[in-house]
Amino acid sequence: MTGNDKDFFKTFLLTLIAFIILISCLIYMGEVSAAEVEVYGYSTSVVSGWVIVNNTFINHCPLCLANNSLVVGLKRDDEITCSYCGADYSFDGYDKMYSPRARLIEKEEI
Ligand SMILES: [Zn+2]
Repeated sequence: MTGNDKDFFKTFLLTLIAFIILISCLIYMGEVSAAEVEVYGYSTSVVSGWVIVNNTFINHCPLCLANNSLVVGLKRDDEITCSYCGADYSFDGYDKMYSPRARLIEKEEI
């Protein structure tokens, strides 16, 4: 191995390490900023009825499996709507169908 080869190898290793650290940071940041949906107000689903609830859900639609698609007040102020598939959820997390197809995942359950 000549001196030049060693330098090249060193540079390559350092670049590789820097790259791995950068990727790890990006993944870590992604986990930390995983969005949540916090709601406080009247539930309007057939399951809980008209009661005040305070919930924090993971921003993940259980029907279309999209992430960060849930928005509060897109259609109605007392609903969580999936901006991807259009599913509506009550503040208790239940899908607003007469017989709910799914429920949002509560943060505490993970
Ligand atoms: Zn959806």
